[in-house]
Amino acid sequence: MLLALLAPLACDADAPDTGNSPGDTTGETGDSGTDSGENADGMRTFANCGGTVAADVPAFFARYFRCANISMDGEDVVVSTVDLPPYASPYYDPDDPNWTEWDDRGGDYFQNPNVIAEQDILIRFAGSPVSKGLTVTADLVDLKMGTSDDEYLGGPGGVGLDGVIYFNAVAGPGDSILDEAYTFDLWEAHPEMTGTYHHHSASPGPLAALEAGGFVSTDAVGEAEWELYGMMCDGTVLLGCREMDGSAVDAATLDAQDGHVGDIVDPDGTVHFADRYHIHQCTDYAHYGLTPEIQYYQDCGTAPPP
Ligand SMILES: [Zn+2]
Ligand SMILES: [Zn+2]
Repeated sequence: MLLALLAPLACDADAPDTGNSPGDTTGETGDSGTDSGENADGMRTFANCGGTVAADVPAFFARYFRCANISMDGEDVVVSTVDLPPYASPYYDPDDPNWTEWDDRGGDYFQNPNVIAEQDILIRFAGSPVSKGLTVTADLVDLKMGTSDDEYLGGPGGVGLDGVIYFNAVAGPGDSILDEAYTFDLWEAHPEMTGTYHHHSASPGPLAALEAGGFVSTDAVGEAEWELYGMMCDGTVLLGCREMDGSAVDAATLDAQDGHVGDIVDPDGTVHFADRYHIHQCTDYAHYGLTPEIQYYQDCGTAPPP
């Protein structure tokens, strides 16, 4: 029954990535952050979204995360973000320079009633996350909220390279993330009731951050030279269909949410994290390209700012 539900989504989820990339649809404004330092229309872009990075922040964060303030507290990395996407979205207020028209992608997609609002979100990544010792089995990963004590809590659960918040892979009670996915904009994101804009899956947004940094040549999901999306609050790394260095994934070792433990190696050979649990957000695998549902490491470092 679940599979029957999921199959259409897995197909439709590919549509915006292949034929309909955000850069194409929103024209020059949607992709302007990668091209110019200024935008006469007052649009928020990767070039002007700001963000500060302290000198002692590890390269993994300093190189690849944009539009956020990043500092150290002891050995923890602390990221704070206003969670305003640096690209056009129909979820901005129509008076906002970043607003663009809704694209229903043939009628399947519909806009939810929420509007993006500036947030003040702090996420603390432990320098040395401690494993819970879990084996993430299929009975733990049901895309339903409140069915395991090991689920990420609802709300902000991580952050993408684009400074946009990541949520886990479950919807609110009584709802299905696979239905809610039809309310994603072309950046595979949407706001919830308080206006917190967020991703639940692989998205062009973090890839556009890599593109803005000159690391890859496209923000099309599955087509970039290498793909890194962000990090969940417990230290779980979010990758795409391949390992960070572009090498093939040993799919036989993936658990029920397409995660496994391995070194996170930069394309330049730098080992950012040894033996780190990470998820492959990729529709080729079983978990539909979604974020993790089960929190592998002990602490989730989300908190309101001090
Ligand atoms: Zn959501
Ligand atoms: Zn891997």
